[in-house]
Amino acid sequence: MHLTVFGSLALDTTRTPFRTEIEIMGGAATYASIASSNFVKTEILGVIGSDFPEKYLEILRSKVGTAGLEIKSGKRTFRYDSSFNYDLSHRTTNKTDLNVIAEYEPSVPDQLKNSRYIYLANNDPIQNIKMLKQFINPKLVVCDTIEFWIQTMPDEVKKMFGLVHGVIINDQEARMLCGMSNLIKCAKEILSWGPEFVVVKKGEHGSVLVRSDMIFVAPAYPLEEIVDPTGAGDSFAGGFMGHLASVETNDVKEFRAAVVYGNVMGSFAVEDFGLTRLLRIGNEEITKRFNLYRTLTQL
Ligand code: AMP
Repeated sequence: MHLTVFGSLALDTTRTPFRTEIEIMGGAATYASIASSNFVKTEILGVIGSDFPEKYLEILRSKVGTAGLEIKSGKRTFRYDSSFNYDLSHRTTNKTDLNVIAEYEPSVPDQLKNSRYIYLANNDPIQNIKMLKQFINPKLVVCDTIEFWIQTMPDEVKKMFGLVHGVIINDQEARMLCGMSNLIKCAKEILSWGPEFVVVKKGEHGSVLVRSDMIFVAPAYPLEEIVDPTGAGDSFAGGFMGHLASVETNDVKEFRAAVVYGNVMGSFAVEDFGLTRLLRIGNEEITKRFNLYRTLTQL
């Protein structure tokens, strides 16, 4: 079984009070697919411009399948510029330059049309819907979104949520989209639009999975040092989807484990700048942290 991930590939400029990095490899699909590649063979779908550095392409190709990656000659890659506050808990978007993403026409290569596990990472919801319609018989489709799309096209975001099995969303975005402060109520509101489950990510406070038949609460892994929170949500999604695609069941127990694998991958992502830490981890470290997490949360 493999996982197919569609979404942004980016050059990120990330500013924390302690360090700034200009135009490093980022993007929602990049983080999610590199995280999930530790669990299952992963294919990335998306678009970049010819200015995307070759060294980043090589890294990507060493981790994931790139048959669905389009490189548009003479075009500029998507760029995202953001700053974090002093305790790294809050991000402000300085600039979103869609560039090559703005005019992209989603297209699934023939060899991926039968993908059963699909993750629609943070991206234009209209493009996500167009992409989704090209898969023949998917078993599990999950999507995410971000403030930019909630503010510019909330109706399309809601429509996209109605077409997937599951939604992964962070606390601020859930509140913004639903116009409510209580997160369980937000999750239930999102369920009323059609998906079977919602995972609300709450940063350093962990995450909560809400299905009509259960709620599962998972605290965040207790890290002492956080360097760059960018990509934590996407890495969460990569761990969550990667685990479910590897076990190929919708069993409640595996859903719970998937949330914990999501938290574990998110915790790795924030330990260094950009993708640095995620690119260094292996299965042994993931299993070790998963088991430690289990001990820490056992009653
Ligand atoms: P996260 O920190 O997990 O919420 O996601 C951050 C990643 O999402 C960054 O690497 C950005 O390149 C990417 N990103 C930010 N804004 C957008 C957007 N409007 N559409 C698609 N991807 C985005």
